[in-house]
Amino acid sequence: MTNPLLDDRDVAFTLYGVLGAESLLGLPHFEEHSRETFDAFVSVAARFAREAVFPATRALDEDPPRLVDGRVLVSPRLHTLWPKLREMGVIAAARPFEVGGQQLPLAISTAASLYLMAANPALFGFPGLTAGAAHLIEEFGSEALKALYLEPMHEGRFTGTMALTEPHAGSSLADVSTRARPAGDHYLISGSKIFISGGDQDLSENIVHMVLARIEGAPSGIRGVSLFLVPRLRFGVSGLEPNDVGVSGLIHKIGWKALPSVVLSLGEGGDCRGWLVGAPHQGISCMFQMMNEARIMVGANGVATASVAYHESLGYARERPQGRLATSKDPQLPQVPIIEHADVRRMLLRQKAIVEGGMSLLLQTALYADRASHAATEGERQHAQVLLDLLTPVTKSFPAEKGFESTVLALQIHGGYGYTSEYLPEIFFREQKLNSIHEGTTGIQGLDLLGRKVVAHNGAAMRAFAEEIARTCERAAAAGVAASWIGALTGAAVEVSELTKELAQRGRSGDVEGMLCHSADYLELFSTTVIAWQWLLQAAAAREAMASGSSERDFLEGKLAAAQYWLRTELPRVPALVTLCRENEDSYLTMRPSWF
Ligand SMILES: Cc1cc2nc3c(=O)[nH]c(=O)nc-3n(C[C@H](O)[C@H](O)[C@H](O)COP(=O)(O)OP(=O)(O)OC[C@H]3O[C@@H](n4cnc5c(N)ncnc54)[C@H](O)[C@@H]3O)c2cc1C
Repeated sequence: MTNPLLDDRDVAFTLYGVLGAESLLGLPHFEEHSRETFDAFVSVAARFAREAVFPATRALDEDPPRLVDGRVLVSPRLHTLWPKLREMGVIAAARPFEVGGQQLPLAISTAASLYLMAANPALFGFPGLTAGAAHLIEEFGSEALKALYLEPMHEGRFTGTMALTEPHAGSSLADVSTRARPAGDHYLISGSKIFISGGDQDLSENIVHMVLARIEGAPSGIRGVSLFLVPRLRFGVSGLEPNDVGVSGLIHKIGWKALPSVVLSLGEGGDCRGWLVGAPHQGISCMFQMMNEARIMVGANGVATASVAYHESLGYARERPQGRLATSKDPQLPQVPIIEHADVRRMLLRQKAIVEGGMSLLLQTALYADRASHAATEGERQHAQVLLDLLTPVTKSFPAEKGFESTVLALQIHGGYGYTSEYLPEIFFREQKLNSIHEGTTGIQGLDLLGRKVVAHNGAAMRAFAEEIARTCERAAAAGVAASWIGALTGAAVEVSELTKELAQRGRSGDVEGMLCHSADYLELFSTTVIAWQWLLQAAAAREAMASGSSERDFLEGKLAAAQYWLRTELPRVPALVTLCRENEDSYLTMRPSWF
């Protein structure tokens, strides 16, 4: 069976049937579009992903970049794929017409990206990073920088990177030590960055690094970090000229091999020029725009890789004959396909619930981003913004963590063959692991959610979230979804809300350690509830479609089965996690490093 990467019916059902993405067409910003232009964009990406990118999966995995005479050379296959990807306009798809974009909703461009990421996450790294870097310049750059860099970046002639990490400053960006010395209209940059994805390659004419550095004399810590545009080649009198940006090493990764990750040395010759983007010392708050977008993209990668792995194992399970059912062990009977075994269906259903629940959350979050920027009233924009902020750490970490488990299940369904390099699941498994590490590890997402997001604006985000859940419950009740499912979500939401207030109070009373000690458990229980909310929405939309006489009966029954799975087997884990946080079970806190 050919792997579809994603189920087209599910993408359309989630976007339109569940989340009502067509309502965006009523907003002035999207009035030039129609359902047809949305669908056309998604289907062009899907076709390219299926026909050109996915077939190159194994070859791209086996042909990593090479460092030759100080330059990184990528696989020749990328030289064929990259121009076609540029032509599709994926880099500026969601940017406004006036900067050369297609002014599509982020929800639509994200849906299209899912296919490309599922086909090869590393390839999508190039346009993804370029889009984020260009958006930073569009938002915070000077007019001169915009005039020089935006167009070539949107066209993909120049690519972009985010250059944050240093050997001693990964999770802790407060410790960034790259220096910036004022020198007229620019700064002289010196320092070293590690793990910079797309940091060098021979695909584009130029590379634009968005670099975090500290202006001489700046305060220590996060408030002394500024953002700079540092091109590999700078504009000189006679065109592009070297800017003293060197590659001092190539990282040998276990996945995402087509996208080079490099160690950059900036200013070894004393002549690396950087241009300030945004105000001095405001680098982190500017960079948060790119980081938040990138976190949603990482969530998308988590969904995409889990999806391609799920479809691979679904196809395998339908075709692999093995054993007989417990009810008929007669060896004269032919073997059954393994999908007939309940335990294999358990693994498939768990994957389906993670993949489709994760995609639903992802597209929901992208819709909040669209409404936060373009909704008709200030009140609606603010409502969407607080939900976007609240859900970003979950949208990043749930597909990364549960998507990894899901990818492991895909390998498990392949039995011994899954443990070989002849079959694809081992690649998906390696690709997926990155998503819980880059763009802030899961540990950092848990701290962000509990330490910042749920307590922000005096709990306004949690109130907005409660309203969304109440609206979903009303819709589910009207659609005829089982009352016990609705009650289960309502009950979990109340427990999460009560716990959040208690933990916030613990923090306010000075016991910050007691508040945050279970941030990983809190992230888990919060995410489980968020996905239950999405599954209740999916169930409501499935019931609505059934009532309106849809012919997709099997598809809709599958939706209800996955909703039941999440609400009845995953959601009941929430109270146990709530107790752990509430009682502040202190094994992690009291365990001393010397006791290990
Ligand atoms: C393939 C790849 C591509 C990357 N691409 C880029 C890129 O393009 N640009 C870029 O700037 N960076 C990039 N990175 C770097 C990435 O963002 C960092 O690796 C990540 O932020 C973690 O930093 P670290 O590796 O230094 O780990 P550390 O920060 O040392 O973390 C190690 C462990 O300690 C935990 N930890 C650390 N601090 C805390 C804390 N305060 N509380 C609780 N737990 C904590 C972490 O959760 C983690 O489990 C990339 C990394 C990889 C592997």
